[in-house]
Amino acid sequence: MLSDKISALGVVATLCVFLTNFASGQETALTQPQGDETAFANYAPWLDASLDLRDYHIHLRGGMTAAMARERAKLTGVKSGVLENNGREWPINTNEKLDQFIAGVEEYNATLPEDERLKIGVQVNDRDWYKVIDPKVYARLDYVLADTMIMGRRPDGSDERLWLLPRDYDVDQDEWFERYYRHNLTVVSEPIDILANVTWLPDFIADRYDELWTRERMAVLIQAAIDGGVALEIQAESNFPKPQFVKLALEMGAKFSFGTNNFDPKLKDTGAWKRNFDQFHFTKEQLWRDYQYDGAAPKRVKPAEKRTIDYDGMVKRLKEKGIL
Ligand SMILES: [Zn+2]
Repeated sequence: MLSDKISALGVVATLCVFLTNFASGQETALTQPQGDETAFANYAPWLDASLDLRDYHIHLRGGMTAAMARERAKLTGVKSGVLENNGREWPINTNEKLDQFIAGVEEYNATLPEDERLKIGVQVNDRDWYKVIDPKVYARLDYVLADTMIMGRRPDGSDERLWLLPRDYDVDQDEWFERYYRHNLTVVSEPIDILANVTWLPDFIADRYDELWTRERMAVLIQAAIDGGVALEIQAESNFPKPQFVKLALEMGAKFSFGTNNFDPKLKDTGAWKRNFDQFHFTKEQLWRDYQYDGAAPKRVKPAEKRTIDYDGMVKRLKEKGIL
C-alpha cells in the first residue's frame, strides 16, 4: 500500500538523518545514550514497515524514559510499549505507585500525536496480582505481561528468581521441570496478554530443552495461550523459544509479540527477532495487538480472573484436532 511505502521511506529517512547527525557529532542528548550508530543501524533494518511492529517490553528503568521510548520508535520504525515490574519485591508494589506510573505515561502521551503515543503495560511478578490490582487502575492498562522466571519462595520467604539458580543446581530435574511446567500453565491462565520469554529454561536445565518441552507440553501451553488471547513473546537476546515451538504455535494459530526487556536505555541486540522473522515470515495477522489497535475497544477487555486448565481435556481436544 502506498501509505505503508511512504511511512517506510519516512523511517529510513529519519534513520539516515540521525546517522548523519551522529557522524557529524550532533547527536542529541536524548538519543545518544540509547546506543551507538551501529546499534541503531542494526536494530531492525530488515523490518517490513507494513507489519507495524511494536516492542511491548520496554522497561522504564535504569535511566530509560518515556521520551526515549518515543524517540527510539521514530528512529527504528518499531513502535514502543512501556512497562515496569509490579509485585511485592518490585518497584511498583502498591496500587498507588502503579497509578502514578500509568499517570506519568498518560501525561506524556497527551503531548504526542495519536500515532506516536506509547502503549502502557505492566509486568506482573506475583501470582495473585489480579486479586490485588485496583480494577480502576487495571482498566487503564493497554496490556499485562508476565514471564515464568519467578517460581515459589526461597527459605527466607523471598521470591525464587530462577535466573539466579546456579548452573550446578542440585535438584531432581524431572520433578523440578514438572513443577515449572505447571507454573507455566498457571501464569498463562492469568488475565495476562503477553507470556514473555516463552519456554525459557534456567541454565542448569537448558540443555534438556528438546527432551523436556515435548510436543504435548508445548501444544497444551500454546492452546491455553490461544484460548486466553495471550501472545507468546520472542525476546531480544534470548535463546527461547526454539524453532519447533514457534513452528507449532504458528500452525495452531497462536499470536506472537516481540520484546526487548531492557535494563537501561541501551538498544539490545534484536538478532533473535530477525532469526525468527527470517525463518517464519510473520504476517501482520500473526502479531498480537493491544485492544485499542483498531481504535474503539476499551483498553482492558479481560475480566481480572484466572482461568482453569483441564490438562487431560486439552490433550483429548488436541488429539481430535490432529495436533497430537
Ligand atoms: Zn521484563
